[in-house]
Amino acid sequence: MKITANDPNRKTWLKVDENSDFPIQNIPFGVFLTRDDIITIGTRIGDYAIDLGALHQLGYFSEIPLTDDIFLQDTLNDFIADGRKTWRLVRNRIAELFDENNATLKDNNEHKNRIIFEMNEVEMKLPVDIGDYTDFYASKEHATNVGSLFRDPENALLPNWVHIPIGYHGRSSSIVPSGTPIRRPLGQTKPPHLDSPIFGASKLLDFELEMAFITTDVNKLGQTISIDDANEYIFGLVLFNDWSARDIQGWEYVPLGPFLGKSFASTISPWIVTLDALKPFKVESPKQDPKPLPYLKQSGKKSYDIHLQAFIQPENGEENLVSNSNFKYMYWTMVQQLTHHTSNGCNVRAGDMMGSGTISGPTPDSYGSMLELSWRGQNPIKLKDGTERKFINDNDTVIMRGFCENSEVRIGFGDCTGKVLPALE
Ligand code: CA
Repeated sequence: MKITANDPNRKTWLKVDENSDFPIQNIPFGVFLTRDDIITIGTRIGDYAIDLGALHQLGYFSEIPLTDDIFLQDTLNDFIADGRKTWRLVRNRIAELFDENNATLKDNNEHKNRIIFEMNEVEMKLPVDIGDYTDFYASKEHATNVGSLFRDPENALLPNWVHIPIGYHGRSSSIVPSGTPIRRPLGQTKPPHLDSPIFGASKLLDFELEMAFITTDVNKLGQTISIDDANEYIFGLVLFNDWSARDIQGWEYVPLGPFLGKSFASTISPWIVTLDALKPFKVESPKQDPKPLPYLKQSGKKSYDIHLQAFIQPENGEENLVSNSNFKYMYWTMVQQLTHHTSNGCNVRAGDMMGSGTISGPTPDSYGSMLELSWRGQNPIKLKDGTERKFINDNDTVIMRGFCENSEVRIGFGDCTGKVLPALE
């Protein structure tokens, strides 16, 4: 089926800023609370939130086989479970309705009042009920940097890393939408100058610049998928800040891996941008040497050119750009991660979320965490207000942004922000 929603020449009758992350070619999906306190599934064009529940009730999707209540829900899980054909039909139809040459809705003020909201009138919620969340470790530069800092610069990359998309199972209960404040965690740490551990507020609170993909139902328990089919099961992507307490992590992670240093919070951007919308931005992923085992062998362009940025904004201060990375730096691709995830027969369901792992690029300004940017505190980052950061301070806001751009269109993700509140001690 043709993705007519991606037509770069299409213009909309809604007012959209030239540099908006949400031109009519994006058409992401999210969940929001309207000014009347009604929760609904929606999309966004420019700075307008569009109520898909109302559009459906008013008959604008009558040509598409959808259940009556598919958009009258507080999560996208059922819509995502309907599969790629439905996602495409709905995006194509939205593009058609908001096309500048289509007067059907444009000239119906009563319907427009029920369907269109300004973004500042709505409150974004989590877009999916995340059943399971898995975090990968897919950037070679990040794994090498962390291996150097936590273990041994001579053997920074462990031997399995180039053969397996390494991951661990995280907590989905503490994933929150952009704008939710983050409480600095308490935990057990062992500072190097002490002989025994202490309990208290983390002193090394960090962000991780990541993206996460959301799946539809992939496989039944005991079954596997082929890498050639994996793309069909990926609905879309969000920005993902996987907050990390490095001092808690450093003390607890051997022998079983990440635990409380990671599980206190992760922030996502609230609009899921579909893989369909990102199609014009497909690129080759880094060359893999040694060659992966046959079940992970991919061909063609399997990555995406998505510019990623992280900013620190002190309280009442300006934004400071601290990292410029790109999704395309990831060594292991999403299809390899998903194929590997199901290779033991573990079932993956609609609404599951997979973090990419911190995406660090080859240059120091492209590192995706403060651990790497400040090289574990050895090279503090100077902010515009003259203060320095080794890690994240109380009352700092961390902002992540991501966008794709070519000569015809810009597709973005909006903001992924979180303000750090002091620990409760
Ligand atoms: Ca992570």
